[in-house]
Amino acid sequence: IKKIGVMTSGGDSPGMNAAIRAVVRTCAFHKIKCIGIYRGYQGLIEGDMVEMSARSVRNIINRGGTILKSARSQEFRTKEGRKKAHDSLVKNGVDALVVIGGDGSFTGGMIFNEEFGYPVIGIPGTIDNDIFGTKFTLGYDTALNTAVEAIDRIRDTASSHDRLFFIEVMGRDAGHIALNVGVGAGAEEILIPEEDLGLDRLLESLEKSRVTGKTSSIVVVAEGDKTGENVFQLAEYVEKNMPDYDIRVTVLGHVQRGGTPTCRDRVLASRMGVKAVETLLEGKSNFMVGISNDELNLTPLERAVKGKSEIDKELIRVSDIMTT
Ligand code: ATP
Repeated sequence: IKKIGVMTSGGDSPGMNAAIRAVVRTCAFHKIKCIGIYRGYQGLIEGDMVEMSARSVRNIINRGGTILKSARSQEFRTKEGRKKAHDSLVKNGVDALVVIGGDGSFTGGMIFNEEFGYPVIGIPGTIDNDIFGTKFTLGYDTALNTAVEAIDRIRDTASSHDRLFFIEVMGRDAGHIALNVGVGAGAEEILIPEEDLGLDRLLESLEKSRVTGKTSSIVVVAEGDKTGENVFQLAEYVEKNMPDYDIRVTVLGHVQRGGTPTCRDRVLASRMGVKAVETLLEGKSNFMVGISNDELNLTPLERAVKGKSEIDKELIRVSDIMTT
């Protein structure tokens, strides 16, 4: 391998720049070339790429988002699109690809590897932390800290006005963010897709808090929670049944996706970037780099894509105890 391509694909997350930097610098360290591919698979198809040196990634470790931009590509989902992508890599003399993204991006990489025998390594970059084979994904820690900080602020106003706040955090299919942020911010209730609490139990629990003298409360709701249709309808239902409460809804939304990555995300990105390049140089491919028990590991892309990341049961118990 003489030249490695690096791209960011799917939803962006804080720490992606730190990972790009790590890939580029590891290539420089091993004296091989590195090429940055813009806008994920779409940029690859269009040949939108630029050679990168150790110096072209200075001052980005602390920046959120991705300097290579990210995109979703319909064309890459077709055989013709992937053929164009392969031609583009051959034309530019790129021997292997590091894809920083989520499970959709890994599925694309895996299919590409199957079709062309082309070496691909994945680095998990998504705030949702919903990828099998790694305890942490890049951007997750930053998103948790951003959300906790926002909820702390909301708590100030909640307690000044004796209000009940429903706060929606990201997590379409997974409650990792909601559960951790809920525990970290001391929420009264945490609603996650993995556990359908049910509307009656939610009312019961809020009523119990009210009777024991709580005048303000925070309920953290994961985007993908199934208790209500959505957070607004959930709040409406509670308002109807508990008219004493003054209820407000806040959707944190994309603020969770941006911002300066935490030290933890930067360090993880650096470690994963080194591992990705060195794995390719060892002749291995079609793996995702992950971390468990603070040690880096490799999971076949197929398993990373098909496996389900489990919610932390012990933390659910902790949250149950904390919310009594
Ligand atoms: P996020 O976690 O933010 O959703 P993601 O990587 O899962 O990130 P997707 O939009 O699902 O984001 O996938 C990114 C890109 O990967 C798609 O736009 C598409 O180009 C490619 N891709 C996804 N699934 C496939 C597939 N089955 N075949 C080929 N390419 C795919």
